[in-house]
Amino acid sequence: MKTLWLLASLALGEIPPGKVLLAIYPHHDDHNGHAGLIARMTAAGYTGYYVRVSNDEKDGRGRQWAANSMINYQETVAGTRELGIGEVISLDWRNDHMDSIPLQELRAQLVLLIRRYKPDVVMGHDPWAHYDRNPDHRKVSRAVADAVYLAAYSAAYPEHLQAGLQPHRVPYLYFKARTEYGKGHEPNIAIELNQEQVRRKAAAFWAHKNVRPDAPVARSLRQRLEAQGLTIPELGGLEDEEAARRLHLWSVERAAGEQGKQAGVKYAEPFYYLDEWRDVPGLRDYIAGNIRR
Ligand SMILES: [Zn+2]
Repeated sequence: MKTLWLLASLALGEIPPGKVLLAIYPHHDDHNGHAGLIARMTAAGYTGYYVRVSNDEKDGRGRQWAANSMINYQETVAGTRELGIGEVISLDWRNDHMDSIPLQELRAQLVLLIRRYKPDVVMGHDPWAHYDRNPDHRKVSRAVADAVYLAAYSAAYPEHLQAGLQPHRVPYLYFKARTEYGKGHEPNIAIELNQEQVRRKAAAFWAHKNVRPDAPVARSLRQRLEAQGLTIPELGGLEDEEAARRLHLWSVERAAGEQGKQAGVKYAEPFYYLDEWRDVPGLRDYIAGNIRR
């Protein structure tokens, strides 16, 4: 453990005080990057809402678009339930067709949701990541950053106020980037996970049967190993589907372990994190150094 601490490059964060988290992503399975954090927060008493901005019609195994949309929605409900989230709000914009959405309109919807649910925490893809090849990720992450900024101002979307809502400033933001979808981003904090949170993260993704690895993946892997005279004893006697689930769990544990090393702990998730002091850099340090009780 001492060696790990010496190698640590990311500070460990704590779960911030609050009651409500709003996770806003384009797709049904995008919770994967934040899943451990969501599981930790809901276990700590947070109420979680998942916003799926697209209809996910293009994501699935060769089905009709309408079927994909419906199945992926149902699997989002099941997957996020594993993480303690109670409600999924689907905006149903067309998947992979987002250049035609006026950014203004998407932003207005998100401002409305922020004012409606009054989250203490918003999470999503990092709008300042170094490019993401997925066009939906780019569009939605920008709209999320814009909406968080504008939701606090009473002069923005005054019709919301006339409808009884209030401006809302979101104190805590956790952003994530898929490193294999571009050049990644620069996380500034890590959240420690325990074994159970890692297991729930894997289980949440596993609920997405329409897109996740399945039995044929495990079958072909085992066949390739057998061709080389190799076997994985832990998978012996298991059905292909269960073997695929174990392989997925191991890959999630391995990734969480690699990320944990950056913070000197066994398992972690890294984020680009902004807190309630983000608009007044240095003020917290000043208060900590000068306050008199
Ligand atoms: Zn996605």
